[in-house]
Amino acid sequence: MTEATPWADSYRHPGGWDRTFPPASMVDLFEEAARRMGSAPLIDFLGRRYSYAEVLDGANRVACGLKAMGVAKGDRVGLHLPNTPHYLAAYYGALKLGATVVNFSPLYTAAELSHQVEDSGTRVMFTLSAKALLPTALEVLESSSLERLVVGSVAGALPPAKSILYRLFKRSEVAERPDDPRITAFSTLIANDGACDHVPIDPEADLALIQYTGGTTGLPKGAMLTHQNLSANARQVDALDPDPDGEDRIVGVLPLFHVFANTCVLNRTVISGGMIVLLPRFDAAVTLAAIERTRATALPGVPTMYQALMDHPKLAATDFSSLRVCISGGAPLPQELKSRFEALTQSILIEGYGLSESSGVVSTNPYEGGSKPGTIGQPIPATRVKLVDKEDPTRPPAQGQPGEIVVKGPQIMQGYWNRPDTDGKTFVEGWLRTGDVGEIDEDGFIRIVDRLKDMIAVGGFKVFPSQIETILYAHPAVKEALVIGIPDSYAGERPRAYVTLNEDQPADGKALAAWLNPQLGKHERVDSVVVRLTMPKTMIGKLSRKDLIAEVLNSNA
Ligand code: AMP
Repeated sequence: MTEATPWADSYRHPGGWDRTFPPASMVDLFEEAARRMGSAPLIDFLGRRYSYAEVLDGANRVACGLKAMGVAKGDRVGLHLPNTPHYLAAYYGALKLGATVVNFSPLYTAAELSHQVEDSGTRVMFTLSAKALLPTALEVLESSSLERLVVGSVAGALPPAKSILYRLFKRSEVAERPDDPRITAFSTLIANDGACDHVPIDPEADLALIQYTGGTTGLPKGAMLTHQNLSANARQVDALDPDPDGEDRIVGVLPLFHVFANTCVLNRTVISGGMIVLLPRFDAAVTLAAIERTRATALPGVPTMYQALMDHPKLAATDFSSLRVCISGGAPLPQELKSRFEALTQSILIEGYGLSESSGVVSTNPYEGGSKPGTIGQPIPATRVKLVDKEDPTRPPAQGQPGEIVVKGPQIMQGYWNRPDTDGKTFVEGWLRTGDVGEIDEDGFIRIVDRLKDMIAVGGFKVFPSQIETILYAHPAVKEALVIGIPDSYAGERPRAYVTLNEDQPADGKALAAWLNPQLGKHERVDSVVVRLTMPKTMIGKLSRKDLIAEVLNSNA
């Protein structure tokens, strides 16, 4: 890396960092695209296509159905949905009413979802009748202040041949509780003409999305993103690689409940008029087949996904000739993976960077070549990035030293829901603190070298140690607990727990892991629980995660 400079404006892009994106609501952008694209496909869902006009019709019906339920402007509407057409109809339907969407990870446990329901004040939540979702959603309905569940059926959204099979094997569970007035079938919700009045939206003031994330301190909190935050980020990304004729076919396998996909798969494709090849979950063989079947042009993903595709025996026989660009984000992209993937597929794999608090995207490597491997690229248009001192963010870092990455731009959130930034931990002089530590070279390419925040990146999924530690403390034998990320060749990192025990309570690591893991979401599960006699502490006697990480990594334990 060449000499570090504290600034990286997006001077490479036409208009540079001072380029403007006039205020626009997500609803305006969607309706404008629907007018322009009409019967052109917006979604390919396992072979069944949904046009722009059909998705707009679905969204109008969802809006009217929610309105009839009493949902009003500013109310929070939860989406506990994988990537199915319901997601788009529910998302735009809620937004049309002026409601705020709250994304709920389908991988979360009922306890995690209930926390998010309470914190956000979500009143109505969409889910699916699938076995992996409905029982958890019903638990949340019983154990939180959630008022209503809207339950869709995957079978209804599939192509006819597949839906018959699905019905045979996976009975719709919502049918078992037909008399519960708190539960409405998606098909009932949309049984209206979609002709109710919608609400005027102020793009810069009205929240489109509350996106839960750990922030820099590890406690899940909601990043407040306005319509303008999301619509600007979609237009910023589109400006890097415009698709004016709507010819892109984007593989939508990244979960839409995460901001990366919200911007790069959904919002950006809609404004350009392209098609989303929607896949409900990642399966390497299905993804490879979908690329070939739809002649997909783009594949946004996380490093573990590209690795799994490359390891799949069908890769060699897959026709990638339509694929133009793959955009990797969420976790570092190993250079060796990038070059092997590019050689095998003859496409380009570029690395970008962003976070929930930035509506998705802050920086990318150039699409047209000139990537600097190992970097997260340069800031996207209208975005400024600089480094500040890790201890005192009001100062620049010492000459040549890395610093905390801070960001300004139209995509940056308003703050965390119900948590004013009283201590300056979130913003410093109007700049968002990312909790990531980096260097910037003289061409404005940024390299991440460390992380200040308590977060473990398992593939693209983020795991917050404090959530796991809180559960561990509920075990009578656990006296002290720390969870840290251990390097993993496939996932990048995996959580591992370290505990000390109360004297009168014998327990071993195996038993503790067997007790802990069933209470955790899939990516949060620890590879082991290590019992220690003591824990490293700071000068004032607090548990020191930093020292434990240093100790464990140095000893390769
Ligand atoms: P999330 O809010 O879940 O999107 O997580 C955002 C965090 O993911 C960032 O603050 C980084 O720590 C990490 N991240 C995102 N992209 C990259 C990348 N390309 N390389 C390394 N870390 C990344």
